Amino acid sequence: MKLKEKLFSVLNNKCPKCHKGPVFEVNNPYNLKRFDKMHKSCPCCGETYHKEPGFYYGAMIVSYMLNGALFIFTFLGIYVPMEIDAISYIVTMGLLIVILAPLTFRLSRLVWLNVFVGFDPAAKCFNPEL
Ligand SMILES: [Zn+2]
Repeated sequence: MKLKEKLFSVLNNKCPKCHKGPVFEVNNPYNLKRFDKMHKSCPCCGETYHKEPGFYYGAMIVSYMLNGALFIFTFLGIYVPMEIDAISYIVTMGLLIVILAPLTFRLSRLVWLNVFVGFDPAAKCFNPEL
């Protein structure tokens, strides 16, 4: 199933084409020195991760949608049923968005890359270690 393949790639930091090579250099999004470092291309199949200059500007739209979904779910799941005051909710949301920023950054780039690259089970791996 196509959605299952995309989810595998996004959630496991794997190349959308071969599902073997990593997209980001480190798997931990909270390694704050290197969480944003991406390979230029897949170490396994050679698929380029930087399609053109400014390719990842589109990932900002995905990031906006992820944060919007977070806002809606916390509003409906916390603010409305618990009836907390608005200032506490806004401060909590601000902190939550900052804390989740490395995760959101990586997820949005992985989703954006998966929009343009499809899974190819026949993709050859040129790196025997992966
Ligand atoms: Zn690959």
